[in-house]
Amino acid sequence: MRIVIKVGTSTLAHATGNTNIRRVETLCRVLSDIKNAGHEVLLVSSGATGMGSGKLGLLKKPEDISTKQAAAAVGQCELMYTYDKLFQQYNHCVAQVLLTRSDIEDPTRRAHLHNTFFRLLDFHVLPVINENDSVATEEFFIGENDSLAALVSTIVEADLVVLLSDIDGLFTADPRKDPAARLIERVEEITPQMLQQAGGSGSDFGSGGMAAKLNAAQIAMNAGIDMVIANGSHPEILYDIIEGKNIGTRFIARKEAS
Ligand code: GLU
Repeated sequence: MRIVIKVGTSTLAHATGNTNIRRVETLCRVLSDIKNAGHEVLLVSSGATGMGSGKLGLLKKPEDISTKQAAAAVGQCELMYTYDKLFQQYNHCVAQVLLTRSDIEDPTRRAHLHNTFFRLLDFHVLPVINENDSVATEEFFIGENDSLAALVSTIVEADLVVLLSDIDGLFTADPRKDPAARLIERVEEITPQMLQQAGGSGSDFGSGGMAAKLNAAQIAMNAGIDMVIANGSHPEILYDIIEGKNIGTRFIARKEAS
């Protein structure tokens, strides 16, 4: 299987913005093992702005563009240093790929990107992808990595996209406010009611939230790719997700999609 796995800032970092070392170590071990089992893995990793903010001693997500872009530049470095070091322990090579919307939308750039990804996969390299936050301008800004992961999955013709987050999946209501909220295990169609219920960003450092996840699901489903939202607090659940077990919420690919 070719799998695109997205990890959110809330999975990678503590509330302080500093790296959640245990979590990141487990994630890298599990992803290495999944690669060893013969799967192709592309990791879409958030956390640049969050980690950069932590390293710069900022207490919350910066508001102004230049501080955001500066924090992302610092944090992206920290992220790749961490991944390179941890994946090396399991003899896996990582590559950094930073994108903006125009790299995906412009046909020529998209074709180059497609070829680069496939060449990296031929070399058994694990691409680590993020938005190019320190240069992206508003016009070309995707702004959250859930949709970025889904867009990447369409470029590499993935079999599955997994969004690891701080929530268990899509619920019938907001589980932080409504104790009667129920996890929806399987979604064949995204309804207007689901979109209406999806609020804004859930954490101090992340930018996604459920609205972005539903947008990502729509992109993947339309492209004929299944997508799973699951809780990233125990990255070992990736084994079960790949085996097709009922974990989190699975959005089912449209049958007629190419
Ligand atoms: N690209 C952003 C970062 O690495 C994260 C976007 C998101 O939270 O989805 O900081």
